[in-house]
Amino acid sequence: MKLKYYGTGAGAGIPEICCSCRVCEHARRYGGPNIRTRSQATLDEIMIDCPVDAYAHSVYCGLDIRRHRHILITHAHADHFSMTGGFASRFQDDGGGWTFYMPPISAAEESERIAKMAENNTKFPPQRYPRIVPVAPFTPFWIGTHRITPLPSNHAASIGTMLYLIEQENKALLWVHDSGYLLPETIHYLREHPVHLNAVSLDCTLGRGQRITASHMDIDQCADTACLLRQIGCADEATVFLLSHMGHLVEKTHDELRAQAQEFGFWVAYDGMELNI
Ligand SMILES: [Zn+2]
Ligand SMILES: [Zn+2]
Ligand SMILES: [Zn+2]
Repeated sequence: MKLKYYGTGAGAGIPEICCSCRVCEHARRYGGPNIRTRSQATLDEIMIDCPVDAYAHSVYCGLDIRRHRHILITHAHADHFSMTGGFASRFQDDGGGWTFYMPPISAAEESERIAKMAENNTKFPPQRYPRIVPVAPFTPFWIGTHRITPLPSNHAASIGTMLYLIEQENKALLWVHDSGYLLPETIHYLREHPVHLNAVSLDCTLGRGQRITASHMDIDQCADTACLLRQIGCADEATVFLLSHMGHLVEKTHDELRAQAQEFGFWVAYDGMELNI
């Protein structure tokens, strides 16, 4: 499987538009991997999340959305999901269509919104609207040769939030965005359904030791999570752990975070990073 990160930033990205902190200023000055747009990635023909920055990723970063027709939405915060309008208004339709897989509450809201839009819109034929599919936790489904298992994340219970376990043949990726420590039911499922993870992308939103919320993690909590996954037999020394979803709260430039991550053997994702799993 081929993974490409397009956005590795938390809610407001780095730099935040109004912020003059050291990390944001450093990103403005040096650019490169210090710039972090909002969370989006592709895995083969699958897209993971479609945030406010999807348009910028498509215009400036080579993301050809027509090649990624199946879109897994982790949750409906704007840094992960924000643009079905752009999909509905596409003018020259090649007939392929797009499918969004979403947590049930958001899927219901989105379906209702699209139905209203379709009702008031006589210009475009109905097949131009994306298909919305609610995902059920612990219930695998297939996208081509990829097997997808949604697992509840520890993030925002009121809207429903998911992690995704994505497997193809003997390869597996666990996408842990956004989340605090894994929920007991998710740990239970992983324990009961053994899988060898080749890569794990971890939520590292917070500065080390900050713990200002339970719905995101710092690097020590990422280390605890990696340790737990090893303990339950899902990960080993061959598993690549990547940190992503960083904002200025992390209080580190890209190089500084890389140096800190080395202590744990973690890789630090950056916008544009590609790897084969
Ligand atoms: Zn987020
Ligand atoms: Zn800042
Ligand atoms: Zn979120």
